[in-house]
Amino acid sequence: MHEAAPVNPWVALAYLVAGVCFILALRGLSSPATSRRGNRLGMIGMGIAVVTTLVTHVPGTAICISEECSVGRFDIDWITVVEILGAIGLGAVIGLVTARRIAMTAMPQLVAAFHSLVGLAAVLVGIAAYLNPGAFGISSLVVPMIGQPFAVINPVAKVEMALGVAIGAITFSGSVIAFLKLNGNMGGKPILLPGRHGINLGVLVGILLCVAVFAHGQDTWPFWTILVASFAIGFLLIIPIGGADMPVVVSMLNSYSGWAAAAMGFTLGNTAMIVTGALVGSSGAILSYIMCRAMNRSFLSVIAGGFGATDSGGAGSGAAIDRPWKRGSAEDAAFLMSQAEQVIIVPGYGMAVAQAQHALREMGDKLKEHGVRVKYAIHPVAGRMPGHMNVLLAEANVPYDDVFELEDINAEFAQTDVAFVIGANDVTNPAAKTDKTSPIYGMPVLDVEKAKTVLFIKRSMGGVGYAGVDNELFYRDNTMMLLADAKKMVEEIVKSIE
Ligand code: NDP
Repeated sequence: MHEAAPVNPWVALAYLVAGVCFILALRGLSSPATSRRGNRLGMIGMGIAVVTTLVTHVPGTAICISEECSVGRFDIDWITVVEILGAIGLGAVIGLVTARRIAMTAMPQLVAAFHSLVGLAAVLVGIAAYLNPGAFGISSLVVPMIGQPFAVINPVAKVEMALGVAIGAITFSGSVIAFLKLNGNMGGKPILLPGRHGINLGVLVGILLCVAVFAHGQDTWPFWTILVASFAIGFLLIIPIGGADMPVVVSMLNSYSGWAAAAMGFTLGNTAMIVTGALVGSSGAILSYIMCRAMNRSFLSVIAGGFGATDSGGAGSGAAIDRPWKRGSAEDAAFLMSQAEQVIIVPGYGMAVAQAQHALREMGDKLKEHGVRVKYAIHPVAGRMPGHMNVLLAEANVPYDDVFELEDINAEFAQTDVAFVIGANDVTNPAAKTDKTSPIYGMPVLDVEKAKTVLFIKRSMGGVGYAGVDNELFYRDNTMMLLADAKKMVEEIVKSIE
């Protein structure tokens, strides 16, 4: 066992306060009404953690409460300070520019890219610790009877390091594939290798064996084998996952990135990293589980990499059905909705693309002025990231009380005059209930077809949703297609209601 460094109580206290801030931040983020406060608390916690780590790690600046270290406490190593501040400044500029430029609809790929960086950072810290264990305080000096003394890394530290590197490498390569799929550089269709479950299991068992050999031996090959095999398994786990399951993959990779950080927290002996990593890891795992339940997917199947996925269907396989359909105008829609007792609005990815949320809120307000009851139905995977629609509606000041989750509103469609579907497709597709070959089969969907009239806004009959399949609802007798950009169409409807 390596000797544990004495913990400065002020540092421990600062990390504790940071940890409490993170827990309160997660609590705040659980509701749109408190999410801003949650965000601020998270930033304060991270600020405390970063400053404490810097103050305790830059040579010459160590906060010291004992007598011995009063000497030389202000003998600061300025080169290190400049290097660290330079790196922080560079990261801050890149983060700021990216955050300002990125479109809301591209957020999932940005999140995947960020996760890949967390994974890569864990891998690099692990390699640095392996190559220079003395600097990390994880080795002890062995003095042999004959020959020179040499350093050996403690077995426990080796296990922590190997697991951190493995999870980091899986997170990195998995996130790169997720990024390529979400960004459209790679097709969303699952790539199913023959015997993939056997291959995955074999590689996983191989990694665990290498960890055991690495912990107890002095050879270098197990470390590098763990690294290469983990990069491979991250790739193998994500390629078989099809379009409709990508939301779960994003939150699962979020969880992995947390565990990678926590494992590296052990290697670096940093409590804040362990706490933060564990919080991210467990909240990501809980979110993945909730999303799996919402989409009627087995949690283990998704983690195991497209378990149960078949070649049939899949993203990009849907061609428009050649059947008659009804086209309506903004005036028709305005007339139908202003005569209705209740209208349920179903927003989807297309609303985000068109940035139609403000016009939509205006339309809702106008309808309310006409005595219409207006509600918003949110599917858990509508848009391209968890909570995507909630964020946009909150931005447009849609009252929280008007916004309902799928399970709370689905029964109401049967008593509703108009379901107004704006840029949503997959989350309303009844094929999820009836067509076993569909890539979205089994996912609960909003029962919009049960409303007396369904108004569907999309740009063309040819366009498909994320899962790449046509929607049979477009051709039903009670459906009226409003073909236009969502924002333009809603603005015209508002004018017509006036
Ligand atoms: P979909 O992607 O199924 O459908 C989007 C619809 O919007 C299409 O019909 C498209 O048709 C239309 N559209 C696009 N741009 C515009 C525009 N400017 N104006 C009007 N219409 C437009 O969206 P859903 O929200 O229904 O479903 C989300 C899908 O994304 C699910 O399959 C889900 O699994 C997946 N996903 C979700 C994630 C999450 O975490 N929420 C993450 C990753 C994937 P047209 O092109 O003809 O206009």
